[in-house]
Amino acid sequence: MVFYTPGRTTSYPEKEIENGIQFHFLGGAQEVGNVACIIEDNTQTRILIDYGLSPGDPPTYPQESPPVDAAIITHAHLDHIGMVPWITASHNCPLHATHLTAALADMMWQDTYKISKIEGYPLPWDKRDIEDADLSWETHSFGVKQNIGEWEWKLLQAGHVPGAAMIHIKTPTKQILWSGDIDTRNTPNVSGAIPTETDILVLEGTYGGREHPNRLEEEMRFVEKVKEVVNRGGLVIVPAFASGRGQDILRILHKNVPSLNVHYDGMGKRVTRHWMNHSEFIHDAKEWDKIWPWVRKVGSKSDRKKALSADVIVTTSGMLKGGPVLWYLNRVKDDPKSAVLITGYQAEDTGGKMLLETGKIPIYGDIVEIQCEVDRFQLSNHAGHSALVDFAKKSKAKDVILFHLPEEAIEPLKEAIEENGQIVHVPENGKSFIIE
Ligand SMILES: [Zn+2]
Repeated sequence: MVFYTPGRTTSYPEKEIENGIQFHFLGGAQEVGNVACIIEDNTQTRILIDYGLSPGDPPTYPQESPPVDAAIITHAHLDHIGMVPWITASHNCPLHATHLTAALADMMWQDTYKISKIEGYPLPWDKRDIEDADLSWETHSFGVKQNIGEWEWKLLQAGHVPGAAMIHIKTPTKQILWSGDIDTRNTPNVSGAIPTETDILVLEGTYGGREHPNRLEEEMRFVEKVKEVVNRGGLVIVPAFASGRGQDILRILHKNVPSLNVHYDGMGKRVTRHWMNHSEFIHDAKEWDKIWPWVRKVGSKSDRKKALSADVIVTTSGMLKGGPVLWYLNRVKDDPKSAVLITGYQAEDTGGKMLLETGKIPIYGDIVEIQCEVDRFQLSNHAGHSALVDFAKKSKAKDVILFHLPEEAIEPLKEAIEENGQIVHVPENGKSFIIE
């Protein structure tokens, strides 16, 4: 058994539950990332929802999970699945998710393992643990009822990214709706989450207190900027996450400017193939039969050189921290006609954040000044503030538990949901609480 970094290990407070549902966040309460929560009641049923990590420098992990009957995984982003190999290695429990999330998970773990070796950070699991995790999946479509002990549960569409699920649980006494990461809007590749009535809603709050610009207007602003750069003879570089944003960009460009010459590089290519194999999770999946042959896949170094004469390159990493994007940026950095269009969240200590703030970026060990135009677009796949408040209201939950949110989001979101007449709980990591 692999133990965590000293100081992070906790012993789980084992105690008898008389009534109600007990929640115990191992991570992800009052923070974005590291999501992990134990839910149990007096029927002796105990599940874990998500087991993520935050890939910072150094990465952080949730607290150690006790043995559970099963783990249900909402989606294949690292802050929700990054530590799952530890769970199966330690507790040998089944893993539940949608077919697509399970297919993507192995790739995410292999990539995390590789990066941990390159960057020299410790991971509490190793390569063999990935194999165990791969063999532990029980996969599902949306809406199909399952049982764990006396609980009945099902996965529901969460919006966010294809395959991402909300979890609806019926215990003998309460209904629980776990939102996972949600988007209630229809975005290019996935339809939005629809609230279901419940007693207890566990709601993410990434964008609490903040509103998004109108989604379609922002997409059109992006398209217009791409046209402007191409018309003046520049190359557009779009750094994009492998799982979701890159494919959204491809779909937007294919729909609006099919005459463009668009190249696609990085891990997103493999992600997209999984999407196409699990088309039930993709909005209007047939579109991809047209988009995929249209976009030029970059697979080799010579492809990469050819891509420099394209109109647009969509590539990882989305936060300009490693990945092919740095190779491209290094080639065009002195060209003021070209542009870097940032379309996603940029964490602290990433190249993308530094580029936005200083116009410079570390490439292969040097801090390099970027002469290209840099612009930013809000194409988030999380619900904004009003959408979260409205979702809570429509769920008719008596109790709303907020998680997966930055500190500044807590008060505005709590106040607004309380105005719905709902009781709002803001849990702390490592502390159990019961809702009766
Ligand atoms: Zn996510």
